[in-house]
Amino acid sequence: MSVYPRAIKANFVFSLFLGFARDVLGITEKNIAFAASICSDDINSIELPLTKMIGPFVLGGLDGFPFVGQTGIEAFSHHVPDEGMAFIFFGPHVGVGDGGEVGTIKRPGMASRTACCGSASAALEHVIAGSDPCYDPELDFQQKAIFDILKAHAPELKLLAMPARFVRATELIYDASHDRMRELLKHLDLQGKMAVVAGGTLINEDDAKGSLISLNSLSTYGFKSFGRFDGSKAEGTVNLMSDFKHYAKNELLNVLAAIEPVSDRG
Ligand SMILES: [Zn+2]
Repeated sequence: MSVYPRAIKANFVFSLFLGFARDVLGITEKNIAFAASICSDDINSIELPLTKMIGPFVLGGLDGFPFVGQTGIEAFSHHVPDEGMAFIFFGPHVGVGDGGEVGTIKRPGMASRTACCGSASAALEHVIAGSDPCYDPELDFQQKAIFDILKAHAPELKLLAMPARFVRATELIYDASHDRMRELLKHLDLQGKMAVVAGGTLINEDDAKGSLISLNSLSTYGFKSFGRFDGSKAEGTVNLMSDFKHYAKNELLNVLAAIEPVSDRG
């Protein structure tokens, strides 16, 4: 995918992660409480990979910003199985069409293209036009928050042409969500259990062909008391990205070896 060259199928990312959790962290799939901070958009519900994890606990609202706040994340952290861990995925979403269109998709049963993420698209239109949408602070507080994130970067966004403008707007919403997530993670009440937090951009394709993930971060938060972290009870964050890449590479090499014709094995 040219706009998101690092994007891979969401099902594949989840499958690799669940293998990593089992083989490296020592946690089985059914002992993982899953929270998703992704946009309320129905296309995301259709395309969320099916797993045996408990959940998802829905942290997101418009464009995946973790709107449930401190109370929501605290509540989620009380639902982690005794021998398990919490897994949180957060990130904005963006439609990328078959023709390379960014910010719209062709939805099931619809001939015309519609905005995706519609919230980001509407907010961005106002930011570029310099118009004040006068969102009702009670009736439309989530959309006001997304608009405020983009409005703070209006000069930069106005200088960009499409599709770079929509890609940048999505990045800005990711960064704001990540900042908020870091704040909220301080309120996880894990009682000695571990949380793994993944951040990325969720990409929707035309005709609900399935979503892709461009993974930006993967780290632990909380007590590193499982698997290779045994013995280390210190609380804090560990970047898991290089461990995850190493695991994924070995998995793929195993698959390649398994499908290699016997005659090619020397
Ligand atoms: Zn959306």
